[in-house]
Amino acid sequence: MLKINNLKFAYNNKKPVLKGINLELEDGKISVVLGKNGAGKTTLFKCILGFVKPDGEILFDGDDIANMSRTNRAKLIGYVPQELAFGSLTVYETIMVGRLSHFGTFVSVEDKEVVSRVMDELEIGHLADDIVSNLSGGERQKVAIARALAQDPKLLIFDEPTGNLDIQNEQLIFDVVKKIASERKIAILIAIHNLSFALNFGDRFFLMKDGIIKYTTDKTSINEEKLNDIYGVKAKIYDLDGTKVITVGGIK
Ligand code: ADP
Repeated sequence: MLKINNLKFAYNNKKPVLKGINLELEDGKISVVLGKNGAGKTTLFKCILGFVKPDGEILFDGDDIANMSRTNRAKLIGYVPQELAFGSLTVYETIMVGRLSHFGTFVSVEDKEVVSRVMDELEIGHLADDIVSNLSGGERQKVAIARALAQDPKLLIFDEPTGNLDIQNEQLIFDVVKKIASERKIAILIAIHNLSFALNFGDRFFLMKDGIIKYTTDKTSINEEKLNDIYGVKAKIYDLDGTKVITVGGIK
């Protein structure tokens, strides 16, 4: 699985954004990246996806992804952004285009089977001929996930995938992601804004501050002190029958 060693990156203005990131992901586990706006979460994802070229190592099963072709990287890593620009394609076409834009070939029988399978998996088969821009926000996000899954990746990266959704759709998307992780044994790397969702949903947490991962924790050792340090707030974590609830009582 993915292992990152001493990752450093600056945009053209040369201000360091990532200042030595180390992390390791596990198959079938949900790893949540937390941190304030500007901490470097999206930049970290861009490095893993190959959108920008960092210093340091990003290894996938021991191979440096810097040496991989775009196609090979797309076979390993799928990406679901906050909102996709879908244009006027149907659900079926959108998922197929996602697959072909990565693998660059004509539509094969296998491609058709894969697209049908992921539509079934996400229960959107009945929407196959609908125009994506006419769907609800939750349905659109399911299409975005289906599109990424059609690549058959080993790692799925989500950048705040529920930022524009209401609470019911947010729950629905997290349920889908959880199912994918456990059934397909795909590693999930996800940035989540909503702390209550994040703490109940994640298996492992990478808490980012100013371009470094300041804390790596699991569910049991994430605490108020760490959250308050990362976000600069006075948060409290309560346990309500096994569900974590976070309140924020002000700014530190
Ligand atoms: P996050 O996702 O945690 O909000 P980002 O990775 O988007 O953080 O941003 C980290 C830092 O990098 C911020 O200071 C941001 O202004 C800067 N940054 C992001 N994108 C660019 C860019 N294209 N050019 C220059 N600076 C950028």
